[in-house]
Amino acid sequence: MAPKKPLYEGKAKKLFEGPEPGTLIQHFKDDATAFNNQKKGIINGKGVLNNRISEYLMTRIGEIGIPTHFIRSLNMREQLVKAVNIVPLEVIVRNIAAGSFAKRFGVKEGKVLGHPIIEYCYKNDALGDPFVTEEHVFAFGWATPQELDEIRMYTFRINDFLCGLFMGVGIRLVDFKLEFGRLIEGDREFIVLADEISPDNCRLWDVATGYRLDKDRFRQDMGNVEDAYQEVAKRLGVMPKMDADSYVIEVNARVAKPKPKAKAKAKVAVKKIVKAKKK
Ligand code: C5P
Repeated sequence: MAPKKPLYEGKAKKLFEGPEPGTLIQHFKDDATAFNNQKKGIINGKGVLNNRISEYLMTRIGEIGIPTHFIRSLNMREQLVKAVNIVPLEVIVRNIAAGSFAKRFGVKEGKVLGHPIIEYCYKNDALGDPFVTEEHVFAFGWATPQELDEIRMYTFRINDFLCGLFMGVGIRLVDFKLEFGRLIEGDREFIVLADEISPDNCRLWDVATGYRLDKDRFRQDMGNVEDAYQEVAKRLGVMPKMDADSYVIEVNARVAKPKPKAKAKAKVAVKKIVKAKKK
């Protein structure tokens, strides 16, 4: 088979030319970055898990009538997606104060917001993805008012749907980031959900204990990062099964020993989750 033609390498994913015109292969890496690329590392097995988790969530979102770029899974790390023209915005939804929001407004992490809030960032690494308002979006021509209306409507529906879906598996959806693209089919151009949805771009807290099951474990050196991603996949019922052996071999081959202090802390937290589940 001819080698795939690489098109783009991002922080957590690579894109290759797809087998048919208008398609791309999205490859999920184990690389992790935080704080605008200042912190770099590897989360072993993350690419495999995020591929599965994102496939599952995109499929479910598609089932409620929201168009997505996802076509089908190809293998453990890759999925076939529709090539779209990405709207250069990070659409952030917040249900509970955390992260940069809690800092900016001086509120305690965990404060439930009166209603979900949408924030936009301009996707530009060199500028550190600055927060922008709708006025910036229209003035710079990043999206039209009609496109942004559609993006907002989809985003709130996705938030409602995912809050319920995660609550069903004992996880609170604190906040997350979405990206959208323009898809051209014939003479029609429309907005579709793109990129990925995974513990890399969501804050996910265990309902019973508040234990963090997302990239904050990497950002804040909380330890047990791999286990947290696996826990999300397990609860969603998408932990790799058929190819579990190759997953375990691949992960074990690359596992780095966590710091003893972080490991001990994480063990206590995992015990709390188990206890809470038994109750
Ligand atoms: O850091 P902050 O609190 O603004 O992040 C809000 C949410 O958006 C978090 O779930 C985070 O994972 C996600 N995010 C992201 N990529 C970025 C910025 C934020 O996935 N570049």
